[in-house]
Amino acid sequence: MKTAQEYVESIRRLKVNAFAQGKKIETPADHPLIRPSLNAVAMTYELAHDPACQHLTTATSHLTGRRINRFTNIHRDNSDLVNKVKMQRLLGQKTGTCFQRCVGMDAINAMESTTFEIDQSRGTCYHQRFKEFLKYIQDNDLVCDGAMTDPKGDRGKRPSQQADPDLFLRVVKEKPDGIVVRGAKCHQTGALNSHEILVMPTMAMKPEDADYAVSFAVPSDTPGILYILGRQASDTRKMEGGTIDVGNVRFGGQECLVIFEDVFVPWERVFLFRETEFAGTLVERFAGYHRQSYGGCKVGVGDVLIGAIANLMDYQGISNASHARDKLVEMIHLNETLYACGLACSTEGKATASGTYLIDLLLANICKLNVTRFPYEIARLAEDLAGGLMVTLPSEADLRNPATGPYMEKYLQGVCGTATECRLRMLRLVENITIGAAAVAYRTESMHGAGPPQAMKVVIGRQADLDHKKGLAKTLAGIES
Ligand code: SF4
Ligand code: FE
Repeated sequence: MKTAQEYVESIRRLKVNAFAQGKKIETPADHPLIRPSLNAVAMTYELAHDPACQHLTTATSHLTGRRINRFTNIHRDNSDLVNKVKMQRLLGQKTGTCFQRCVGMDAINAMESTTFEIDQSRGTCYHQRFKEFLKYIQDNDLVCDGAMTDPKGDRGKRPSQQADPDLFLRVVKEKPDGIVVRGAKCHQTGALNSHEILVMPTMAMKPEDADYAVSFAVPSDTPGILYILGRQASDTRKMEGGTIDVGNVRFGGQECLVIFEDVFVPWERVFLFRETEFAGTLVERFAGYHRQSYGGCKVGVGDVLIGAIANLMDYQGISNASHARDKLVEMIHLNETLYACGLACSTEGKATASGTYLIDLLLANICKLNVTRFPYEIARLAEDLAGGLMVTLPSEADLRNPATGPYMEKYLQGVCGTATECRLRMLRLVENITIGAAAVAYRTESMHGAGPPQAMKVVIGRQADLDHKKGLAKTLAGIES
């Protein structure tokens, strides 16, 4: 397993074609807008070497029997699924943001079982190819960017009906040694902090969409791939050099728009090619795993937010106010409910045909549907308790300026004996998570990451077995069906 430092060096060596704020970035790893997100991924390496949590952060490879980072593991029983969620909560607590590595973990697990089933049905050889790729990822302890979301253009039209055929990523050429693909993937979590990109279709496909039913993996610095870094609220605070206004002094998330301009993929890295009937399975499993993930990571970030509010209550002298305590307990209740869902879908998971464990899809979607709501309520309560100063506070530079700093110290102080700066730092952390740069990891991310609420409702409606429930009611009502 790589150390955090080895990981950072390995990313620094990549020759990616990346842009941020209108400029080409030569070494993303050292860019102030990107470095906090790299630090967050590095924590997934650091904790794998910490004896105190290795039972969560490492696993045993079912391919080689070697100890590996859990982010490269294939879940082989329910405890793997449970430990994944516990690890994600821990990392959310340690970073207070999105640590980005879960998309790849969720993608390899979805691919592992789906390629097995494609081969069983079609006599193809995707599973063996995929296992070779997986072994490479495990042996080298790599970060995979799981890439699913296409731009989609006109939402009312299928991929093959779009005016511009590239609005869903597609195969544009088939060659003896591989394929050429073109298109884009949006909202790519941690793309510039990844060694590999594992591409999947964005939705179920029909036979006429065969060119769009493609899955493959390529190194992240493959020629033809272009990265455009996404903006975040208040992101340029990361370039100011201070440590207060950023809210989170070390960590941040990252999302990119990733363009594939005629990228060549050798056959040994192609895991789905025109088998349209399996695109839906792949999407459902990846989305299911990622909806489970939110029952861990969002809870960990929620823990940080709750802790920040509890500190502010101390600093501001409202720790014993019953209404404030009640709101804090409400935040805890909502946060732990999300965790309960993440654990429930894991303990109820079952083996797929390949032996890999899949979460209970109904419960995983319930988990994520709650995540589209509860963090908003938690954030609302946090803003209520934090007070308006969170959004009217002068800058760190004003605090440091002798002409203004002493007035800020005097008039923004809280409980006697508490340093004003502590109060300001805590307010900035709450701002960061609720409406600042970390909204990409908590607030808006809770709505759209792993799919918007309607996507969960579609699966819940399908998985709920309404006929069974109707039968129960008819039996008790004395109706023979
Ligand atoms: Fe992991 Fe959560 Fe970030 Fe997704 S949003 S990559 S589950 S930390
Ligand atoms: Fe996400």
